[in-house]
Order: sequence, then C-alpha cells, then structure tokens
Amino acid sequence: MNIILLGPPGAGKGTQASKLVADRGMVQLSTGDMLRAAVKAGTPIGLKAKAVMEAGELVSDEIVSGLIGEKLDSMAASEGAIFDGYPRTEAQAHSLDEILASRGRVLDHVIELEVDEDALVERITGRYTCANCGEGYHDRFKQPKAEGVCDVCGSTEFKRRPDDNEETVRTRMAEYRAKTAPILPVYEARGLVRRVDGMADMAEVSAAIAAILDN
Ligand code: ADP
Ligand code: ADP
Ligand code: ZN
Repeated sequence: MNIILLGPPGAGKGTQASKLVADRGMVQLSTGDMLRAAVKAGTPIGLKAKAVMEAGELVSDEIVSGLIGEKLDSMAASEGAIFDGYPRTEAQAHSLDEILASRGRVLDHVIELEVDEDALVERITGRYTCANCGEGYHDRFKQPKAEGVCDVCGSTEFKRRPDDNEETVRTRMAEYRAKTAPILPVYEARGLVRRVDGMADMAEVSAAIAAILDN
C-alpha cells in the first residue's frame, strides 16, 4: 500500500501519518521532516533549503524528489509508504510516478484532507512538538496529559518551527493554492482521490482514513 496525504499546511497530514505508522507499520516519508533534518545537520541540501523554508516558499523539485527516492531505497518492499507533504507540484507528481514505477510500487490512494482555510492559521500557530521524540501537540487541540510532559517519552523539552508564524503561513497557503492544488485533478482523472473531512476531530479523521485503507 502506497498513499499520498494531501492538504494545505496544518491540515493534519503529519498527525494522521504518525497514526498510520503506529497502527499499521507503514513508513512516513515527510519531505518537511527530511529537510528540517538536513538544515539541522548543516548538509549542502540543508544550506540550500533553510532560507527558502523560512520564507514559506518551495524547495526545488530536484532536491525533494531526490530525498524521496533515497528514503524509498532504504525501505523493504513489503513496507507501505505514506507520502506526507510530497508531491507539492506537478513536476514532483510526475517524478513520483517514475520513482514508484522504477521500484515496482503502485500508488493506491491520494487522500485529500479538506479543511477550512480560516482554521489553519490557528492550527499552525498553536502547533509544537516534543523535542525528544517528535510527538505533535497543539496549544488548544492536543495538550499533553500532564502539563509540560510528553505523553510518549516523558521529555519536558518542546519546540516550535520557525516557519509556524502567521505571516509565513499565509505564504505557504498561497503556495499550496497556486502549485499544489492543481495536482488534484490529475489524480482525480486517474480515480485515485479520496476526500476526508479534515475539520473533524483527529480520531474521526483517523477512522475515515482507516475505512478507505480497509476498503
Ligand atoms: P506543512 O505540513 O506545515 O505544510 P512541511 O513540514 O511539509 O509543512 O514543509 C515545510 C517546508 O518545507 C515547506 O514550506 C517548504 O519550504 C519545504 N518543503 C517540504 N516539502 C516540500 C516539497 N515536497 N516541495 C518543496 N518544498 C517542500
Ligand atoms: P500538517 O502536517 O498537515 O501540516 P499537522 O498534523 O502538523 O498538520 O497538524 C497541525 C496542528 O493541528 C498540530 O498542532 C495538530 O496537533 C493539530 N491538528 C491536527 N489534526 C487536527 C484536527 N483534526 N483537529 C484539531 N487539531 C488538529
Ligand atoms: Zn516525546
């Protein structure tokens, strides 16, 4: 099983991908996470990507498609892939077709998380993660059970992304509308798009995705 989670910043792609990893042993391929790791490590890719990401613009198609190909090569054929935040342009969608075909993989579903844009700014400005294990939280929608302590690993260190501010979010949403939304009709024509109400509770969104995968 190979699926794409598609939706604007804050739609819940990372949240739902983590759930699928935990429940089904699938592998999450988040280009955002890969790029942040590259920035942190100061690799040549990280050095190129840093300012682009801080501005909320898109990193080059060659870089992200290269990262995806490398990650797939490290996976067992039996492991399903969840593409989270990739593809984001028509060129990337085309590259993904080639990347999958050359590895004997088939794209099963493109799951679109439908959300109300007005809600996204609040989702993103309230987002933070555990600095140790990466578990995602939200100031309003998902607080740790014990204040200031990660539910998963017990760490008391948390972090926020430098690009999760209102101004950059607006740019990221504009990028989504201009460059990413146009890939939906392409997948639609291939009968791959499944729509899920991303405004529902996290658990309801997970149940809707599970129903698609189990169908
Ligand atoms: P979100 O899920 O909040 O949209 P991501 O973590 O997926 O954010 O991406 C953060 C940033 O990393 C993007 O704003 C962009 O600069 C860069 N990025 C991530 N994935 C891609 C991609 N597939 N193509 C181009 N740039 C990307
Ligand atoms: P994306 O990966 O699409 O950018 P995330 O999964 O990181 O989005 O979610 C953005 C923020 O919104 C996170 O803080 C997350 O806890 C919260 N969130 C995710 N799904 C929901 C939901 N269905 N309802 C309310 N908040 C949500
Ligand atoms: Zn943790």
